[in-house]
Amino acid sequence: MKTAQVSGNKIVIKEVDDIKLDGRRGAIVRVLGCGLCGSDIVKFREKIVGDGAVLGHEIVAVIDEIDSDTSFKKGDKIVTSHHIPCGECVYCKHGNVSMCEHFKSTNIRPGGFSEKVFVSEEHLKNVAYLVPSDMTDEEISFYEPLGCCVRAIKRCNLIKGDKVLVIGLGSIGLLMGEGIKALGYKVYGCDLIEERIALGNKLGIESYNSLNLDEFDKIIQEKSGGKYGGIDAVFMTSGADKALDVALRVVRKGGKILVFSSTPKNTGYPNNEVYYKELTVLGSYSPSPKDLKDSFDLLTSHRVNVKHLTTIYPLESVQQAFDDTVANKILKAYIKIS
Ligand SMILES: [Zn+2]
Ligand SMILES: [Zn+2]
Repeated sequence: MKTAQVSGNKIVIKEVDDIKLDGRRGAIVRVLGCGLCGSDIVKFREKIVGDGAVLGHEIVAVIDEIDSDTSFKKGDKIVTSHHIPCGECVYCKHGNVSMCEHFKSTNIRPGGFSEKVFVSEEHLKNVAYLVPSDMTDEEISFYEPLGCCVRAIKRCNLIKGDKVLVIGLGSIGLLMGEGIKALGYKVYGCDLIEERIALGNKLGIESYNSLNLDEFDKIIQEKSGGKYGGIDAVFMTSGADKALDVALRVVRKGGKILVFSSTPKNTGYPNNEVYYKELTVLGSYSPSPKDLKDSFDLLTSHRVNVKHLTTIYPLESVQQAFDDTVANKILKAYIKIS
């Protein structure tokens, strides 16, 4: 079978032995396609993973071979996530499931950018779903990324009538904006790239250019109710250092800043603003099985529209997909494998 493996500064296609169940519980799946996640790019560029690693985790696949207590059977088209929390450790008990050791150690193997993948029984039981026939593979591949967004939104404990700003309208920012809207909150967006602002508006996220911060702040304050209204929560989906300036300027007193991206300079948290404006700063990383279920429901009920976000690449062009994503030429790559 073919896999796309990290090899130095490149991703190369390697032919490896076909994987089999070999007595393991779970399923061998034939991968139809796999979304390229921002975290794959970070792992590759910052050399968090070494040579031979197969990236990708947002898979849509068909079951080829199965030994399971679940109702899944050979031939079923499924979507699955890659990590499962233990439910019992200090992190799980406090709701920080993505910090759980078991969560971090579980995965689909070798990785999504591969013709075949082993999905364990634990995955099948907790985070895998049958794909409804009215969903395209590219659409349902947003199951895990939208799960990350659902978790972030829940972390903010928003209340009815809350107004939210999403900074950065890349694929994850647009997805976040759509999720916020689908869950019933007013959402604004900002970016520096005009096409992304236009797409935000098209998807129902009231979006603006934030290059001129004074001007942008004025607009957003007027829109969101000014002195006694304002933005209740800011979601930072942009990895640009400047995003923090925008967040601190726009968020209302007592508001929340949700951190959803790494930044190159690790700017740190702004002590005095947090103190004087009584802000809450929250990080949100990866979803729980319940967040994923909510994401699945949002997608399959068509309350979140992901139709305009993907560009399709064949497995042989994974490297190109990485390069185009980094260069902001595309929003979201979907690697079509079979
Ligand atoms: Zn992902
Ligand atoms: Zn745990």
